[in-house]
Amino acid sequence: MRQVIVAGNWKMNKTSQQVIDFVNKMNAEWKKCKVIICPSHSLLSTLYQTGKNKGICIGAQNIYYESKGAFTGETSSDQVKEFAEYVIIGHSERRRIFGEDDSILNKKVLSALNSGLRPIFCVGESSQQRKTHKEYEIIKEQLDNGLRSLSTDDIKKIIIAYEPVWAIGTGEVATPQIAQEMHFFIRNHIKNIDGDIADNIPIIYGGSVKVDNFYDILRCDDVDGALIGGASLDALNFSDLIKIGEKHNIDLINMSDSS
Ligand code: PEP
Repeated sequence: MRQVIVAGNWKMNKTSQQVIDFVNKMNAEWKKCKVIICPSHSLLSTLYQTGKNKGICIGAQNIYYESKGAFTGETSSDQVKEFAEYVIIGHSERRRIFGEDDSILNKKVLSALNSGLRPIFCVGESSQQRKTHKEYEIIKEQLDNGLRSLSTDDIKKIIIAYEPVWAIGTGEVATPQIAQEMHFFIRNHIKNIDGDIADNIPIIYGGSVKVDNFYDILRCDDVDGALIGGASLDALNFSDLIKIGEKHNIDLINMSDSS
């Protein structure tokens, strides 16, 4: 049985004081699901100090693939690892705005793993690619290129986030059917590497997840949680999303106990 993951991608939002206020205001309790928050690098240390006793896992939003040196403005995976367990790699905003291509992303994935970080590796097609029926081809390419040269042990540490670009920040969430079909495709594709890994790898959905649509997405067999942008910024809203994730995780445990 795979654990439900509720991950917040705060993007370039919040100050240190707002991080403290957020954590203090959260009103969810969880034991079964995993809660990850990914703030800007400048906030990692504050979130680490305020959130670690609450069971919040910490993720960064980016790393540079070189380990150290003259790379002004960049942060290495070892530097991030001081505060975080996870790092988002391949988010569509990094691909589109910052021009990160598959080969750069692959270097980032390898660097993260090398430092002991678990990559949350994002893949997703644009609306044009979906309209022209290229979505499966695109996702396959992003997976093959981004996860190139990883050992089977490395792949076990990856979380895959399926984030259709047309659903990110648009309010247009994928239907449960679209999400399930793509998550099934991704899991099946990982079976080419190893069947056990495919069965256990977390595949989470991202794109306009909100309190009123999360449960329907989460109920899909191959959806193991969500990467949430806008709706993760408010402490009470995010707490409600955690409550949905926790309840679903408990339901899954009960179902597997009774079977
Ligand atoms: C994201 O940026 O990863 C995301 C899914 O954003 P939103 O939930 O706002 O669509």
